[in-house]
Amino acid sequence: MTSFASAVLCRAEKVCVHLPVLLNTFLVFSITGEVSYLVLVEAPLEAEQKRTEWSAWWKTVHLLGQYFMLGNICWNALLFLKTNPSIKGVFLGGDSLGQGWRYCYTCETHTPPRCSHCFDCKVCVLRRDHHCVFFGQCVGFRNYRYFLSCLLFMWSGLLYAVVMNAEVFIVILKEGVTFHSVMLLLIPWIMLVSGQISARAFAFAFIADSCVVGFLLVSAFFFFHVFLLFRGQTTREWYSSRRPYSLGVLGNLRHTLGLRWYLCWLSPLIPSLLPGDGMNFRVTGSLEPSK
Ligand SMILES: [Zn+2]
Ligand SMILES: [Zn+2]
Repeated sequence: MTSFASAVLCRAEKVCVHLPVLLNTFLVFSITGEVSYLVLVEAPLEAEQKRTEWSAWWKTVHLLGQYFMLGNICWNALLFLKTNPSIKGVFLGGDSLGQGWRYCYTCETHTPPRCSHCFDCKVCVLRRDHHCVFFGQCVGFRNYRYFLSCLLFMWSGLLYAVVMNAEVFIVILKEGVTFHSVMLLLIPWIMLVSGQISARAFAFAFIADSCVVGFLLVSAFFFFHVFLLFRGQTTREWYSSRRPYSLGVLGNLRHTLGLRWYLCWLSPLIPSLLPGDGMNFRVTGSLEPSK
């Protein structure tokens, strides 16, 4: 019985770890499906509403743009998950230990500067930034590029979706700011369950809401990481008010995104070799926290 319970708990834990990825995938595909629908079918909420017809060429441009962003989000997310950022399989240099090396009692090995142990991944991660709960994996030296590109295209995709969904908000609020319209925007689930709106109106209101909330969240994450990228700092170093490895804006871009930093964000398929090894970093500032 006990082993059965622990097996169930173990399985539940595995499902919970993958739940954010599944939820995000569902949201990304739902939003893309909805904006594609908005482009292809002219009226979002009222079928009889007449609008200026978009040309086939303009619709194609929109659809290509949408699938370019979707492709980049999915491919970057996939490469992020497939790229192992940990010290597993890395030759850590034997006894050539220098300044900033530490000993990890969990992994039972010496670890280089900027490397730290993740208790979720249960391993030390090179140039560890943080553990991303949405992906269930750490952001480190080797997969930072994919993480940032994925954020960039999520941000631009959500910005686009918010603009496209402005029409949905306009249609909902067309009759004025009534109790019904405000409730539909704030709590569409309850309006659906109580039978006050159709499943179609719910789907549009829910996706439009998700776009706005998602855009605000992703904007905060994205601009924070761009700020750190320019400063050559990890989230951990920012927390502890340290910035000892900054190489100037261009140097930081090269060392984080690779030699083709100016191009690689366009597609994860563009190779961009990282100049360092994730273990040796040039110290340019104080290793102690600044006040
Ligand atoms: Zn460790
Ligand atoms: Zn982790």
